[in-house]
Amino acid sequence: MSRGISLAPCGLTVERIESDPNKLLILARSTAKTAVCPTCSGESDLVHSRYQRSLADLPSQGRAVEIRLWTRRFRCSRTECRQKIFTERLAATEDRPYVRCTARLDNIVHHLGLALGGWPGQSLAKRLLIPVSRHTLLRVVRRGAARHTTIEKPRITGVDDWAWRRGHRYGTIIYDLEQHRIIDLLPDREAATLKQWLAERPTITVIARDRGAGYIQAATEGRPEATQVADRWHLMENASAAFLSAVQQSMQVLRSVLGTGGVDPKQLSGAERRQHDRWLRREKENTVILALAKQGVAIKEIARRTGRSRKLVRHVLRGGRTDVFRSRTNSLEPFAAQLETAWTDGCQNGAALWRQVTAAGFTGGLRVVTEWATRQRKRANTECDGPPSGPAPSARRIARMMTSEREQAASARIVATIKRALPDLVTARDLMDRFHKLIQHRKPADLETWISEATSSLLASFISGIVSDQAAVQAALKEPWSNGKPRGGTPG
Ligand SMILES: [Zn+2]
Repeated sequence: MSRGISLAPCGLTVERIESDPNKLLILARSTAKTAVCPTCSGESDLVHSRYQRSLADLPSQGRAVEIRLWTRRFRCSRTECRQKIFTERLAATEDRPYVRCTARLDNIVHHLGLALGGWPGQSLAKRLLIPVSRHTLLRVVRRGAARHTTIEKPRITGVDDWAWRRGHRYGTIIYDLEQHRIIDLLPDREAATLKQWLAERPTITVIARDRGAGYIQAATEGRPEATQVADRWHLMENASAAFLSAVQQSMQVLRSVLGTGGVDPKQLSGAERRQHDRWLRREKENTVILALAKQGVAIKEIARRTGRSRKLVRHVLRGGRTDVFRSRTNSLEPFAAQLETAWTDGCQNGAALWRQVTAAGFTGGLRVVTEWATRQRKRANTECDGPPSGPAPSARRIARMMTSEREQAASARIVATIKRALPDLVTARDLMDRFHKLIQHRKPADLETWISEATSSLLASFISGIVSDQAAVQAALKEPWSNGKPRGGTPG
C-alpha cells in the first residue's frame, strides 16, 4: 500500500492521513532512532518523553497541509554534559526545534515576503493556501536575512528601499551583490541606521545605492573609503521622472496648443461643463498645494492647512489631478483619427459613430461618443479653422506619446504640434533618450559632454543632481554592480 511517502519532508514518515475539503492532516513520525545532543554532539537513544508538535507544510491538492507528529525528548548519554535533556532536531525544520512550519514552506514564505512586502504578500499567501499573517511574513524575511549576516563578510553591497507595508512604511534592504543574496533588513530608511550598519562592516568596498540624500549621507559617513555607485535602474527612472516633470511644467502652454487652454464652456456638453467646473476648482487647489510645497512646507502641514487628505496632497505633488476630462474622454483617444475621418466623410450621427468605434474595439458607452459629436458640432458652428479642439491629454499621457508611443499616428500628430510650439520640450525628450542609452551602453566618456549640453535644458534640476553626485554616476557607468529593479515596491 502506498503510504504517501512523498507527502512528508525528508526524515519523516507518514503514518496516517486525514482529510477534509479544506485541509490535509498528516500524522507522521521521525525515522531517526537516535538524536544528537546540541551541546556535546553525543549521540543518544535514551528517550525521555514525547510531546506533540504541529508543523504547517506546503499546500497539496488544493488543501492546506498540517503535519502532526510526536517529537521526542532525549537524555544526553554523556554524564559530564551539562545538558541533561534535549529535544530532537528535525531536518524538515532545518534543526530549529520550536518553529511552527517546515523549512520548505518557510522558504516560500520568505520569497513571498521579499517580492511583495507584508500586506500583498499576506493576501497572495492566503490564495496559495499558506496560512501566514503579514507579521509572520516579515519575521521570516528578517530571519532569512539574519541567517546570512552571520556567515558573510560582505564586500560589494547594494542598498535599497523595501516595503514593510507599501505606501506606508519602508525599511532598508541590503544585498550582497556578489552572491545575489539579501544580507540584512533595517527597520527604517534613516541615514543614521544605515550609517551605523555600514560602519560596523569594514570589509565593504562598494555600495550601490539610489540617489536619495539619506543613503548618500549614510554611505559617505559610514564607509567613507568605499566606492559609491549610483544605481542604474534608479538613474533611468530619475531621468524619466525629470522629463515628466518638464512636461508638467509646460502644461499651461501645452493645454493652449493642444486644445484646452481656452476651453470654451459654450462648446461643452452639460456633463463636460460640470467636469470643467470641477477641474477649475481642482486647479486652484493644486496651485495652492504646489506653492506651499515649493516653500518647503511638509505634506502633513499642507494637508492641515488645506483641509485635504495627505494622500491627495501627495497625489498632486506627484503631478496627478491635472486632467480636465478624465477617463471618459481618454478612452476615446485611440479612436480619434477614425472618428475624425468618419466625421469629415459625412457620418455625423452619434449612434452610428459609436457602432463604428465599438466594432474597432472601443469599450466605452454611447454617451462618450455622442458628447464627442456634440463637441464637434459646436466647434464647427463657432469656428472654422482654429487650433485642434478637445481636451488636452494629461501630462503623463503626453510624456508617453512623446516617448514610447511616438511612432503611433495619433501621437505623431500631437508631437509635431508640440515641436512647433515648444521645441525645448522635444530637446528635453531627446536628452532623456540619450541619457538612457548612456546608461544602457555604459559610456562613461560621454557623460561630461551630455552634462554640458543638458545643463541649460528643461532637465536642468535633474542635471544639477547628477553633477552633485557625479562620482557615483560615473561609477555606475564603469562598475558592473547595480541593484536592479527594486523589490517589494518603490516608495511612492
Ligand atoms: Zn550532551
